[in-house]
Amino acid sequence: MELSPILPLKGFQGNSLFIKREDLLPFSFGGNKARKVGLFLSEIDAGDFDCVLTYGSGSSNHCRVVANACCIRKLECIIISPEDEYEDTFNSQMMEIFGARIIQTPLGQVSETIEKTLSDLVKAGRHPYFIAGGGHGNTGTKAYVQCYQEIKEYEREQGVFFDYIFLASGTGTTQAGLICGQLLAGDRRRIVGISIARKNPAGRDIIVDSVRSFMGERASDTMIQEGTVFVDDYTNGYGKGNDDVAKAIMRMIQEYGVPLDDVYTGKAFMGMQEYIKREQIANKNILFIHTGGMPLFFDFLRRQREKI
Ligand SMILES: *Cc1c(COP(=O)(O)O)cnc(C)c1O
Repeated sequence: MELSPILPLKGFQGNSLFIKREDLLPFSFGGNKARKVGLFLSEIDAGDFDCVLTYGSGSSNHCRVVANACCIRKLECIIISPEDEYEDTFNSQMMEIFGARIIQTPLGQVSETIEKTLSDLVKAGRHPYFIAGGGHGNTGTKAYVQCYQEIKEYEREQGVFFDYIFLASGTGTTQAGLICGQLLAGDRRRIVGISIARKNPAGRDIIVDSVRSFMGERASDTMIQEGTVFVDDYTNGYGKGNDDVAKAIMRMIQEYGVPLDDVYTGKAFMGMQEYIKREQIANKNILFIHTGGMPLFFDFLRRQREKI
């Protein structure tokens, strides 16, 4: 069963563009974090846990989704957040509404604080479930292997083949899952991750490690290296307040009714447009994965108004 729809976007610069609307996944404003958290929740519900601990910034989609899921289950949700980056956003406001306990800590002390909070909980007789920031790890990867299988199902039904898949890459888990899906299926196509923050080679290495960890013996190092394309040209300066990103966001909502944001999907969309131009890609079928972040669209709108 497909969890999110794939829709064609008509009239797109010499290629056929399709978009997989992960932002429409039916839980807590959707997004790739909703898909990943779905799998973590199966583990939480099957176990004997009385609280969940995770990590993320004030604008984190991941933390919003986890906090919402915990709220429904009446499970305590503890979020470790780097204080240097803590800002008031619609996501942070929702984390508060969902009753999450937010522990702010300096960026350099995040892993220490996580370790200490976990061990304090255990000492107090609690049973915490830990989710790495952004849902990083094999469970998160698996969620996007399943997404890849949905894409294949769509291709079979519709008789199309996507030559390229583009997406916003952060911790790289989403991209790693798609790459694993591709390796398992033996398909030849390019999956292009547009980095939203990390630089090469470190950002790419993390994806390679995630793929290796998930695939084990099932894929050779050469296959993994060849399958991992990580574009880091649109990180610094391409975030909030960047005019090109704002233009891409405006175009998408005005021409297609699709909301993007200026932290993830807007950057990735603009990066994809640039990549298509630079590599002179024409007459291809291209799939853009809309990884979500709908509340961030409203933060973007609010900032646009403040600029005027
Ligand atoms: C977290 C996030 C990403 C990045 O996903 P990773 O799996 O961490 O690479 C992309 N887009 C949105 C909207 C996100 O919230």
